[in-house]
Amino acid sequence: MQGKIVKGIAGFYYVHVLGYGIYECKAKGIFRKENIKPLVGDNVEIDVIDSDEKKGNINKILPRLNELIRPAVSNIDQALIIFAVAKPRPHFNLLDRFLIMMQKQKVPTIICFNKTDLADDEEINSIQKIYKDCGYQVLLTSAALQKGMEELRMILKDKTTAVAGPSGVGKSSIINILQSNIEMETAEISTKIERGKHTTRHTQLIHIDGKTYIMDTPGFSSLLVEDFQKEELKDYFPELNEYEGLCRFQGCSHTHEPGCKVKEALEQGKISKLRYDNYIELYNELKDKRRY
Ligand code: GDP
Ligand code: ZN
Repeated sequence: MQGKIVKGIAGFYYVHVLGYGIYECKAKGIFRKENIKPLVGDNVEIDVIDSDEKKGNINKILPRLNELIRPAVSNIDQALIIFAVAKPRPHFNLLDRFLIMMQKQKVPTIICFNKTDLADDEEINSIQKIYKDCGYQVLLTSAALQKGMEELRMILKDKTTAVAGPSGVGKSSIINILQSNIEMETAEISTKIERGKHTTRHTQLIHIDGKTYIMDTPGFSSLLVEDFQKEELKDYFPELNEYEGLCRFQGCSHTHEPGCKVKEALEQGKISKLRYDNYIELYNELKDKRRY
């Protein structure tokens, strides 16, 4: 049978087989034969050892689309980063860090601003504009009013999406809504997954329907930008990238150099001051090799 690893704890891998449920598996053969460690997100072939108890053995890991380092997962199609427009106010520096880390790992990222019922249109539009202008896909939702949920479902459909965001922004509320039309089989999975939740938080995939999975990404707030050269940082800000090669000095860092087109664009309001300030903050952080 073929399935997907949705969770791994203490040498056990929980493999979701569509239409059958979750199998508790070991991966003895894989370690010996191929010397690779299964990851959450892996598509695998399993031998069923006990069909009543739903126990099995992983005998093959199918080729990986990609492999993320932090968190250690595979086959992630895209990321969804959730912030609230208010309560709590968005922490844009954290958002920018996340966008950089995901771009570094070549994972397309969609930004979701939730709690739109708590801010006025003008404020929501200005937040949305900052990121739309740099080319990101921005989704507005209100879990409380169940707004934007159909659009979100369409974005997630048939993909495996890593969902991240600081606490209190409405991640659980949104995930609960997405799971609200689950069938019996999935309900069983959810309760199985729920068991470990109150001890340590493990990376896990939640099955939504068909081929749609979402990954709850723990440890978001400890995100740090590292393994970067400060000179490389500007490549991860799409709006700065547009000015590449236009400044007076070749390799301009857009921080202090005269004849800098980015600074000019900033003064003309063509580049968001907020984004630019975050760029400077991260640049200085990399320069000092300061660690958060
Ligand atoms: P998480 O920590 O990101 O998982 O956030 P929760 O889903 O636990 O939500 C935190 C709080 O915000 C809860 O009291 C929710 O009821 C509330 N909340 C979530 N989404 C919305 C929303 O769209 N609008 C409003 N007004 N409150 C929300
Ligand atoms: Zn410049």
